[in-house]
This record gives sequence, structure tokens and C-alpha cells, in this order.
Amino acid sequence: MPSKPPPHPCLCPQKQELPRCPVCDKDVPLEAAKTDEDGHAIHEDCYVLRLLLWKATDGYH
Ligand SMILES: [Zn+2]
Repeated sequence: MPSKPPPHPCLCPQKQELPRCPVCDKDVPLEAAKTDEDGHAIHEDCYVLRLLLWKATDGYH
């Protein structure tokens, strides 16, 4: 009798689709997520960083 391979147990936790931080392009864990003006999830640090960058380039208006 040929031994069948066991069916894939699929016990691994369902990988949740995490939102991607637009600044550093890494996953944003929900517990660390902040929402920017456009409703995108973003790291709090990156959000602050981006605000600083925007301020730094504000002179181009
Ligand atoms: Zn980030």
C-alpha cells in the first residue's frame, strides 16, 4: 500500500495582510499603526518623520 503523504495540516496561523508603511515600506503591525491624513496605516515614527520632511520641503510652494 503506498503511503499517502499526510494532508497539509494548515495549522499555521492565517497570515494577516498587514498594511504597508508608505515611508519605510515595511509592514505596519496593527498595534503600532497610526493613520495619516489619507487614511493610510503608517508607523508613528515614520509619520513624525514625514511631517518633518514635509516641513523641510515646505518652501517649494
Ligand atoms: Zn514605517
